[in-house]
Amino acid sequence: MQNNSVKNPSVAVIGAGMTGILMAIKLREAGITDITILEKADKVGGTWRENTYPGVACDVPAHMYTYSFQGNPEWKHRFAHGSEIQAYMEQVSCEHGVTDQVRFNESLEECHYRDGKWYLSTSKGNSMVVDFVVSATGILHHPAYPDIKGMDSYRGDMFHTARWNHDVSLKGKRVGIIGTGSTATQVISEISKTAGHLTVFQRTPQWVCSVPDKVYSEADKAKLRGNQRLMTRLSERYAFAFRNIFTAAVTGNKLAHAFVNWTTRRNLRKSVRDPELRAKLTPDYKVGCKRLIFSSTFYEAMQSENVHLETNAIERITEGGVVTKDGTEHQLDVLILATGFNPFNFMRPMNLTGRDGLAIDDAWAEKVQAYRSVCIPGFPNFFLMLGPNTPIGNYSVIAMSEVQSQYVLKLIDHWRNERVQTVEATEDAKVRFNSYLKAGMGKTVWVGGCQSWYLDPDGDPAMWPYSWEQWVKELEEPDLDDFLRTSPAEIIPITPAEKAA
Ligand code: NAP
Repeated sequence: MQNNSVKNPSVAVIGAGMTGILMAIKLREAGITDITILEKADKVGGTWRENTYPGVACDVPAHMYTYSFQGNPEWKHRFAHGSEIQAYMEQVSCEHGVTDQVRFNESLEECHYRDGKWYLSTSKGNSMVVDFVVSATGILHHPAYPDIKGMDSYRGDMFHTARWNHDVSLKGKRVGIIGTGSTATQVISEISKTAGHLTVFQRTPQWVCSVPDKVYSEADKAKLRGNQRLMTRLSERYAFAFRNIFTAAVTGNKLAHAFVNWTTRRNLRKSVRDPELRAKLTPDYKVGCKRLIFSSTFYEAMQSENVHLETNAIERITEGGVVTKDGTEHQLDVLILATGFNPFNFMRPMNLTGRDGLAIDDAWAEKVQAYRSVCIPGFPNFFLMLGPNTPIGNYSVIAMSEVQSQYVLKLIDHWRNERVQTVEATEDAKVRFNSYLKAGMGKTVWVGGCQSWYLDPDGDPAMWPYSWEQWVKELEEPDLDDFLRTSPAEIIPITPAEKAA
C-alpha cells in the first residue's frame, strides 16, 4: 500500500532467487515502487533453478520451506522435489508481480557508493543510481571444484552436481561420484537405480537421519486448499519440531543432541546389514557437526549390488578414471563432482566498493563478517540477505530470511521518514556482534572436530549458534546506536551530470 506521506526510495535487489523474490514482495507491500531486480539467469528461482540433479529435493519439510504468507496446498511430497519448489517460486513471483519487474540475463558487475547513493552498472552496459542495494545472491551458488592431480586429462564426461549435464545418460554406465554430502546422498539414491556400476568416493562418512518421505494424497491437498490458517498451523508444527529437536541438538541442548545421536546410530545399525560396510559408513565426529543428512533411501542405495563404497583416498585422475591411494584404477565413463560450494563468496566477483572506495575484498580480507548478518561496516544503505552467520543447521532459510527482510525494511523506514539519509553498521557494533557469536559457538556441535563448509578458514562456524527465538529477537528492531548515520541535510544532492556519469 502506497503511503504518500513518506519518501519513496529507489532500491536495487540483486538476484531473483528465494530471498530476492521475498525482498521484492516485501518492498512492494511497504509501498516502495522504484525497485530494480537484476537476475543473471533467464528465470527466477536461484538454487532451485540451478540444481537439477537427479533426486534434488529439499530436506526441510515442504510446508515449512514455504513463505509464511503463501502456503502451498499442492506440495506432492513432505520433502518437496526441486522441480516442485522451482514451480512454487515461479508461481509466487508471478502472482506478486515480481517476475514482470525482473531484468533477466543481466548481472550486476559494478556497484559503487558515493555521497549517499549507489552507482550500478550491469553486464548489459546499463547504469543506474539508487538509494539502497539489497544483495540477495544466496550462499551456495559457486560450485567448489576439487583440486585433484590429472583432472584435466579425464576423457569421460565430468560435471559438478550444480551444473548437471542432462545430455549424458547414466544408463548402464560406469559412474563415479566424489562426495557424500547432502547433495551426493540425494544423487546416489537416485542414480544407483540406473547406473550400470556406481563407485562412491567417500572421504568422510556422514550421519544420516531417516525421516520418511510422505506423498500427499488428493484428499490431503483438498483439505489445505484455500485454508491458509491450516497451512500455517502445519508449517508451525514442523517448525516447532525442527527447532526443538534438530536446532536444539546442534546449538547446545544435550537432551536433544542425545536423541539425534541415538536415532542416527540406530538408523545406521538397523539399515546397514554388512558390518564392514557399516564400519566404513560410521563417522568419528559428533552428530550434527557436518550438516545432518535426512534420507530414508541412502543406506538402501549403498547396499545395492551395483554400488561400491570406496574409502581409499583419491590419488589422481587419469584419462580413464580415478586412481586411489591403494593403487586401484577405477575405470569410469562418467565422473560426478558432488563436492559442494564456496560459501564465503556471497555477491562476489561483483566489483563492490563502499564508502571511501573500500572494496569488499579488502573489507573481508581478514574475515567474512557482518553485523547481524545483514550489514557491513563501510557499506552504507547496503544489505545482505542470508549474509554470514545466517544458517542454523537443518532449519528453513526462508523463515530466517523473512526475519531479515523485516529488519531491512525497518532500516529503510528510517530513511523514508527522513530520520536518516544513510545507515551503516559501525565497526564496533560488528566486532561486538561477532564476539557475541563466538561466545555462543563453544557449546555448538560445529566445533566438534569435523571439517565442513560451515567453517571459515579460521575454523569458526559461519552459523547462528543460538536459538530461533534469539534470532527473531536480535533482528526485531534495528538499534540505531549501532549505526553511523547521516541526516538528509548532510548529503550533497547529486547533479544531473553526475547521475548521467
Ligand atoms: P558438502 O556438504 O560441502 O559436501 C561436499 C562433499 O564432497 C563432502 O563429502 C566432501 O568430503 C567431498 N569432497 C570435497 N572435495 C573433495 C575432494 N577433493 N576429494 C574427496 N572428496 C571431496 O556439499 P553438498 O553436498 O553440495 O551440500 C552443501 C550444502 O548444500 C548442504 O550442507 C546444504 O546446506 C545444501 N543442500 C541442501 C539440500 C537440501 O535438501 N536442502 C540438498 C543439497 C544440498 P569431506 O566431507 O571429507 O569434506
